[in-house]
Order: sequence, then C-alpha cells, then structure tokens
Amino acid sequence: MQRTDGLSAPSDAAAAPVSKALPRARLTWAAPGLWAMLMIHVGALLALLPAARPTPAILWSALGSFTVRNFCVSAGFHRYFSHRAFRTHRVVQFLFAFIGGMAVMRSALWWAAQHRLHHRYADREGDPHGTLRGFWWAHCLWFIDAANQETRLEELRDFARYPELRWLERNEFVPIAVFVAACAALGGFAGWVWAANVSTVLLCHATFALNSVSHRFGPRRYATRDRSTNLLSIALLTFGEGWHNNHHRWPGRARLGEGWREVDLSWLGIRALARLGLVWGVRR
Ligand SMILES: [Zn+2]
Ligand SMILES: [Zn+2]
Repeated sequence: MQRTDGLSAPSDAAAAPVSKALPRARLTWAAPGLWAMLMIHVGALLALLPAARPTPAILWSALGSFTVRNFCVSAGFHRYFSHRAFRTHRVVQFLFAFIGGMAVMRSALWWAAQHRLHHRYADREGDPHGTLRGFWWAHCLWFIDAANQETRLEELRDFARYPELRWLERNEFVPIAVFVAACAALGGFAGWVWAANVSTVLLCHATFALNSVSHRFGPRRYATRDRSTNLLSIALLTFGEGWHNNHHRWPGRARLGEGWREVDLSWLGIRALARLGLVWGVRR
C-alpha cells in the first residue's frame, strides 16, 4: 500500500481582507448536487406511504448507512481531506472518499476545497457558506450558487495528485448510484426509502447545520474571529463536528471535543482505526 504522509498541512489560519459589498449570488439549476438533493427529499417524503412502512431490519440498516457515511464525511472529508488531521493508507483514503461520496454532498475533493476556503475566510467575503448572507444561505443555498460549483483543485494540490480521487471528482454520481442500487436490492422499496433517502436527508441537514446553526446559535469557548459555536445537539448528530468553536480555534486537531463530556464519536472511530494500524500521525 502506498502511504500518503509527508505532506504539509493546509494553512488554516491564513488571513483575508474584509470587504463591505458581497458579490452578487447566482443560484443555478445546473448545480450538479441540486437534482440529487431534490430527489432524496422527494424519496424521503415517500416514507409516508403505507408501502414504505419499515421493518426493524430496515430501520437498523438506515441507522447503519447514516452512521458509516457520517463517519466518512466527518473523519474523512473533514478531518482527513480538509485538515490532514491524521495520515492513512491510500486504500483507506479511497474508501473515505468513495463511502463519503455516497452522502450526496459531492466529491471529497470538491467538499474539502470548499471547506478550506471556509476556514480561510470564515464568515467573511470569500467564505462559500459564510453567514453574511443569512441563515439559509449558510445552510443550503450556497450549495447551488454558481460560484461554488467548480472543484477548486488549486486549494487541494496535496490530494488532487491522486488519479483515483480525481476520477471520483469527475464521476461523483458513481458512489451515489452504487449506494442507491444496493439499498434497493437489499431492502426493496421500503429499504430504498429509508436507508437511501430518509437517512441521507438527515445526514445532509445535520452536516449543513454546521454551517448555519453552528455559526449562529450556542455558546463560544474561544473568541475566534468567526461566529462558530459549540452545541451538544449538533455534535451528537454529526459525530463530534458540533464542537465547532473548538474546531475553528484548533482546526488541525483530530479530536474536536474537549474532555469526556464533549462527546466526539468520530474521535473514538479515529482512535480505533489508529489501534488497528489503519491510520497514524494523529494530530491532537
Ligand atoms: Zn465553520
Ligand atoms: Zn474544518
């Protein structure tokens, strides 16, 4: 296996000038993520049909698909690809990108590039989902802004050199198609509704809440120059990402919760992977 270490971490704390006038927003129907996002919301509404009544096995599989993809977005897309908070094998890196790509939040390269911009310009002009344009912009409208559709590979040169990651970036619907087909094949109509749609809607809104709720409501431990907060409710839903003010203060750390009271499930997962020898160089 090829190792992926030896690279420098991104400059999370780079400063940016403050501007008074924001560039005009241009929402676009051509946003690649828009149609997949609409389809999973419609699919989740079908849960109201009697034919979609879930069995306990289907509910467990929906929880499982939520858990595995949540971990790959939190530990993979965020702490690994965006912040290089630990190192891993190339195969594990690909699995993080592929399984995280099933969460309908586009590719690992697109996601991490946007997130690095978020940290550089947090809540100021240049932040793709900054709160300057309001709550719903930060939550989801930024996702369909024409200015945010391209993958900013120049922000992610450390990972853009892997051809398999660039392939996933060009074919971001492949993991989604594999995931949806597996849910339908294993669980039928109800399995497709709950494991592929309901769990994905919950996962997307939990993650988006980090940009909206966690930059607006809740207490702040550190006086960071952004509006990030710490919220237990969001931390539970996002496997620890809700300790967002801690994270903006220490963006390179693999552990976001501070102390045992601040539950951080992804940290527990990263620690377990480290014990298995699958990740190393964990930054604390
Ligand atoms: Zn943030
Ligand atoms: Zn971050």
